[in-house]
Amino acid sequence: MMAQYLALKQQAGDCLLFYRMGDFFELFFDDAKIAAQVLDIALTSRGEHGGAPIPMCGVPVHSAEGYLARLIKAGCRVAIAEQVETPEEAKKRGGSKALVARDIVRFVTAGTLTEEALLEPRRANVLAAVCEVRGAIGIAACDISTGRMELEECAPDEMGAALARLGASEVVAPESWGNAPIDCVPRPNRLFGSDEGETRLKAVHGVSTLDGFGQFSRAMLAAAGGLVAYLDHVGRGALPLILPPVAREAGTHMAMDEATRSSLEILVSSSGTRRGSLVEAIDRCVTGAGARLLAEDLSAPLTDTRAINRRLELVSWLHDDPLLRGDIRGILRSLPDVGRALGRVVAGRGSPRDLGQLRDGLSEARRLHDVLRARSDRPGPLDEMLPSLSGHGALCDLYARALVPAPPTERSQGGYIAEGYDAALDELRRVSGNARRAIAALEAKYRDDTGVAALKIRHNGVLGYFIEVPARHADRLMAPESGFTHRQTMAGAVRFNALALHEEASRIAESGGHALAAEEAHFEDLVGHAVRAREAIAATAAALARIDVAAGQAERAAEGGWALPRVVDEPCLEITGGRHPVVEAALAAKGERFVANDCCLHPQDRLWLVGGPNMGGKSTFLRQNALIVLLAQAGGFVPAQAATIGLVDRLFSRVGASDNLARGRSTFMVEMVETAAILSQATERSFVILDEVGRGTSTYDGLSLAWAVAEAIHSINRCRCLFATHYHELSRLAEACDSLSLHHVRAREWKGDLVLLHELAEGPADKSYGLAVARLAGVPAPVIKRAKSVLEKLEKGRAATGGLAAGLDDLPLFAAAIEAAEEKVDALRERLNGLDIDALSPREALDLLYQLKAQANG
Ligand code: ADP
Repeated sequence: MMAQYLALKQQAGDCLLFYRMGDFFELFFDDAKIAAQVLDIALTSRGEHGGAPIPMCGVPVHSAEGYLARLIKAGCRVAIAEQVETPEEAKKRGGSKALVARDIVRFVTAGTLTEEALLEPRRANVLAAVCEVRGAIGIAACDISTGRMELEECAPDEMGAALARLGASEVVAPESWGNAPIDCVPRPNRLFGSDEGETRLKAVHGVSTLDGFGQFSRAMLAAAGGLVAYLDHVGRGALPLILPPVAREAGTHMAMDEATRSSLEILVSSSGTRRGSLVEAIDRCVTGAGARLLAEDLSAPLTDTRAINRRLELVSWLHDDPLLRGDIRGILRSLPDVGRALGRVVAGRGSPRDLGQLRDGLSEARRLHDVLRARSDRPGPLDEMLPSLSGHGALCDLYARALVPAPPTERSQGGYIAEGYDAALDELRRVSGNARRAIAALEAKYRDDTGVAALKIRHNGVLGYFIEVPARHADRLMAPESGFTHRQTMAGAVRFNALALHEEASRIAESGGHALAAEEAHFEDLVGHAVRAREAIAATAAALARIDVAAGQAERAAEGGWALPRVVDEPCLEITGGRHPVVEAALAAKGERFVANDCCLHPQDRLWLVGGPNMGGKSTFLRQNALIVLLAQAGGFVPAQAATIGLVDRLFSRVGASDNLARGRSTFMVEMVETAAILSQATERSFVILDEVGRGTSTYDGLSLAWAVAEAIHSINRCRCLFATHYHELSRLAEACDSLSLHHVRAREWKGDLVLLHELAEGPADKSYGLAVARLAGVPAPVIKRAKSVLEKLEKGRAATGGLAAGLDDLPLFAAAIEAAEEKVDALRERLNGLDIDALSPREALDLLYQLKAQANG
């Protein structure tokens, strides 16, 4: 057995091997140690191997799914080795000692799940493949639970942002690729070939050219090849649902890097969960598919005004008609997850219940279609979606006739094909039903015949049907002429058989077996219908999800009194009465009110420096404006009285210093890496929020960096930017930077207490209120008092020396300073270009080096 195990383990590679033994999946060696720890189950041992006992643990087959879920969550991948023949077959093949043949039937990995129990209903589960082809990165992403597949190409430095957007639960990449993302699954290089990818895609979709699906680059095809090859490997040759690939065009979505995504807490909050995230505050979808699409919309806001307005048109229509919205949401609420049911059915892991879900979902889609079609004022985008909502009439009819109203998840017991669908099946069921009734009648007859009132006819898996009487009455049935034959004597009871019972029981077994086989055949046929219609069904699922998202957005907007944003091409940002959806909800839960604030940026006033005390609401203000931009471009209403959003190509957020010690970088280092990314990537169409740049280092360093960064954003990047800082000294930037203005969050000291008004006002902050905030936070009075006297001393010193920013008056402007530096470089370059090196003596060369160095320094 160990030889068989070890051979399978070799195939399983770094996956844990679930080795089927009877009713258990057993794990051995290191696999057992890992699983025992993750699952918190007993680690035992068995036999020995190489002189040492073999560690082992096991999980029951019937509850394996729950254990699998926990292992996958803990980052493991699992190979399932099943028995592929019965013990009888093994004996026939190799004699009484023969080992039952086993094989790996599938791999279970985070990115390739389809089981309902292992998936989160409101989150997409994405598998991605990444590779590089001649300097271009190809990314293929697929949610196999619904079959959606998307291909894209980007530059190497954009790979991180693209993967962050996808939020894949598993990424595969070529094994010898040096720049592969961390934690990816390495796969043989040869699987990532563009020709191979093209061939595989053509084979999957049964087409001779991919032109009908769109134009795909070499890098995209290579990644697609890697992806399909991995799915093929994981399913051991059985491919899941894969819909035709869609090429994602570069630049059609607002770019956001990983740092921006996590700092804006779009899909998960800083606690690592959905609680407190933007999506949680927005999501009013009534279906899982809607919630998944909303998450996708928020992860990839659009950059095309027309596409944004199409989404807004639908939301707005549903917003203005609460009754219709209520009706639509009522229908959607009862919808099963059509996309995922289809995914399971096509993957060959569907159950009768999944077919029932397709039937119910598709007929509800039809009902929705009829409700919407009756409205003559429906907007264009909805009009285009309508055909996808209907057109499954024949399939629905077939399923309605074929399936019982609530089909089971298990096929083994049968009973899911409806009466009246197949006369032969009905007859088989009638025979076995009659036999069951006959057996019930026999029980009464035998009681009469024997006079034993306690006589029972029972059934178990070993004996089948039998007659049981308490031991003290057994003698009556033991008599040779009684008509009963003895089968088994138990502690308190004796079991018998009788001819009539045996005959009825055989009838049940025979007709039952035939009925099961007939149901199986119908099941395969019904599955075939769904598989053939898979693309149309997936389109219906997609349309339902889009309508749910729009109705949910409309509902959220109505709930919060949100506004329809106006999206324009000019680089402006005019938000009146803006609010932060998450902070507002948190305050509302405590019975507190959120103070709405305006923001107005345009080319002549595009950088706002926001000062004011800690806890005054600076970060909240910065983030709320970024979120409003994001929500608007995702095609939804925004938490404001009114908003005009100039299209943003890239959104950057550097808020708060979050430690990233896991990657071995200090807080300050992370801050600088992220700031560097902004300075190198932000364009005139970008929107940047920067909070407390330079906080992570000494005062002088920090102030200088904040100063230089603000200047660069103003004069070089020229993007729209909100810049929060507690350095008063920065307010002097306003003197030299025309498009920069000063703002602050208001605070007042009232009877010695600090009152934070959370209200934005023009002009610089008057003071920092640091001590007052400390007092508010409960720092003991003696410490505050001592700090006060230290502060007085420092302030006296500052008055005498001109303060931290003394001497900045004669600092040349940022752009001018750079020009001066470049002039110097140019002069050096000219001199170097004019040299005839071969004509120099060693001595002259040395002298020249000294001169050049002096020139560079001078
Ligand atoms: P800062 O960045 O200035 O230190 P924050 O933005 O972190 O301040 O805000 C601190 C707290 O103040 C928030 O957690 C919130 O409870 C409250 N707050 C912020 N903005 C507002 C507002 N506009 N209205 C009401 N409360 C607010």
